[in-house]
Amino acid sequence: MNIFDIPAFTDNYIWAIQIDDSITVIDPGDSNPVLDILEEKKLKLKDILITHHHYDHTGGLLELKKYMSGKVYGPKNENIDGIDTALVEDDLIKTLGHEFRIIETPGHTLDHIAFYNKQTKVLFCGDTLFSAGCGRLFEGTYDQLHGSIQKINQLPDETKIYCGHEYTLSNLEFVISQINSEFIKKKYTETLKKRSMNQITLPSTLKIERKINPFLLETVPDDIKSLKDEDCFKELRIRKDNF
Ligand code: ZN
Ligand code: FE
Repeated sequence: MNIFDIPAFTDNYIWAIQIDDSITVIDPGDSNPVLDILEEKKLKLKDILITHHHYDHTGGLLELKKYMSGKVYGPKNENIDGIDTALVEDDLIKTLGHEFRIIETPGHTLDHIAFYNKQTKVLFCGDTLFSAGCGRLFEGTYDQLHGSIQKINQLPDETKIYCGHEYTLSNLEFVISQINSEFIKKKYTETLKKRSMNQITLPSTLKIERKINPFLLETVPDDIKSLKDEDCFKELRIRKDNF
């Protein structure tokens, strides 16, 4: 599966899956960069996938509907204008010949879903899990977000994490303040270098995230290691909010 990023706003990524001269886009918060790519690369827009209702992920949807040949797939949330097929846990959808299973991931928002392709181990997870971090709690509870991230944590090591924002560097600054690890320090140096050249740091993999992302609870700060999982997650999220 050929996947490329279409940068939007200051730090959003609109992901595009390409087969031949067709693309499906994920979370088009802005229509303009997508329309530019369609014209520039002479591509056709097939489907749109939406992970959650926030405007930076849905803002371009209605405009792009005028140019697409397929469907808009998204969460079961009547407040999102333009969804053709509302999805729930374990639903299967097919776009450009690739099948995606829906994983409900409430927490950042209550309607949040992720799209997983088993064959190529690709996950589009919006604002649930970021590289070295996770989404903020806008609507759900700590336990909901923790549960959602643990669902993602059941996927294989090789799973490629395509998230909605370029937050890796600032997330790693927090992680470094909490955990003393050579691997994390190396990752920080690499990330700093990439960002100073304006390069993308994604996709990550679950294998890497298990070593650098405390919110998966595989690598956590020493002083909260003995806490129950739910409490450890909540404490981490609070520390990050105050960082
Ligand atoms: Zn969001
Ligand atoms: Fe977002």
